Amino acid sequence: MRSTKKPGCKCVELKLSLSDLPHPSDKRIALRVAAPAERAIRQGHPWVFDQSIIEQSHSGMPGDLAVVFDAKRQFLAVGLYDPTSPIRLRILQKGKPASIDSNWFKQKINTAILLREPLKKQDTNGYRLIHGENDGLPGLVIDRYAETLVIKLYTLAWIPHLQDVYSALEEVQPFERLILRLSRSLNKQSKYLHGLTDGMTLAGQTPESLLLFKENGLTFECDPINGQKTGFFLDQRENRERVKRISKGKSVLNVFSYTGGFSLYAADGGAKEVVSVDFSGPATEATLRNIEHNKHLPNVSAATFETITKDAFEVLSEMKEHRRLFDIVILDPPMFAQNQSQVETALSAYRRLTKLGLDVLKPGGILVQASCSSRVDAASFFDAVHRSAKEAGRPLRELERTGHALDHPVTFKEGAYLKCLFAIAP
Ligand code: SAH
Repeated sequence: MRSTKKPGCKCVELKLSLSDLPHPSDKRIALRVAAPAERAIRQGHPWVFDQSIIEQSHSGMPGDLAVVFDAKRQFLAVGLYDPTSPIRLRILQKGKPASIDSNWFKQKINTAILLREPLKKQDTNGYRLIHGENDGLPGLVIDRYAETLVIKLYTLAWIPHLQDVYSALEEVQPFERLILRLSRSLNKQSKYLHGLTDGMTLAGQTPESLLLFKENGLTFECDPINGQKTGFFLDQRENRERVKRISKGKSVLNVFSYTGGFSLYAADGGAKEVVSVDFSGPATEATLRNIEHNKHLPNVSAATFETITKDAFEVLSEMKEHRRLFDIVILDPPMFAQNQSQVETALSAYRRLTKLGLDVLKPGGILVQASCSSRVDAASFFDAVHRSAKEAGRPLRELERTGHALDHPVTFKEGAYLKCLFAIAP
């Protein structure tokens, strides 16, 4: 590790020299793609799959820039090439050519910052700053937790551009620490990682303990190095706020609670009793600490909390047996479908969960059920929940169907993954 801090510079100290990482080739790859892929690019789709490429000027390395030319040999788009991924090209810009450099990244980041402006008024300093494709930077996620930025790569193609992204961030989005996370598939590609590792601190001090940040005035901790995603499920912030608004005086069951996000909002909204269920021990421990972090809030200190570290399906069945009922039941399971072949199984798991959730929901209570499986489209998910409720003899009256939070915009079909139903059960 080498320090690259320049004397007198206020910038955050880099732990390794990003300029030592490979650089994109000076020679851009020229591509021709099949007609449907060309149409998709024109319509703004950010991916070109390997099978869609019909002509390629020369081979390239991850992160090289490739230009797609149309049937008339006119410029169509420029993107990041990755020979190790079936998504061979991720489009950065279409329509007119551009130099892809720190200035270009700065413009994209500035646009993303503007979109998130309203969060400032909400006492929130934990949010998604860059939501990959949906913010025009495909395969790149950047989350902010107070003064820490966590950058997560979903393609090796970002590695040669990290230096430029870093310079752009420093200019427009000051931070004290930058942590790198790598997707599961990238972690297996050690040959192309050039010494980068999942969880390493790229710049600033390595955190000595868990980070604290604020979401709608509540304090949460997160573990950006080992935690799921980048340490917290930032995408549920707006749904948590909705739960807060309906929780006054209620008993709330939060199933798949992770670090207790929904639980704390429910308590802050005046819930009298909050039960959190997750089979992960570390998640339960984090929930207990998050409760402590918010004990200064009168409603949180007045609420009764219980945490159960056990399989959710078992817990729900046991609660049914013991006739333990709640006013609000929240079901926010992990992704059930990783690929198209698992969609039917996922839908049947959602139906089963609805049934189990209703078994412990009081008459007139509210069911909050979410899905984060992008393979399961919203219509099929809502239909599955309704169908299961009807079969259980408790047809739901919908209060609201919700989707993505402001900092998780959606600009293409595959980018829409989160859906959530708020409904009253008779
Ligand atoms: N609602 C959470 C995010 C949930 S992520 C939030 O707002 O932050 C999904 C969680 O489900 C993870 O914490 C995982 O540990 C837990 N989980 C997955 N399968 C489970 C099971 N069968 N029983 C209990 N918990 C489970």
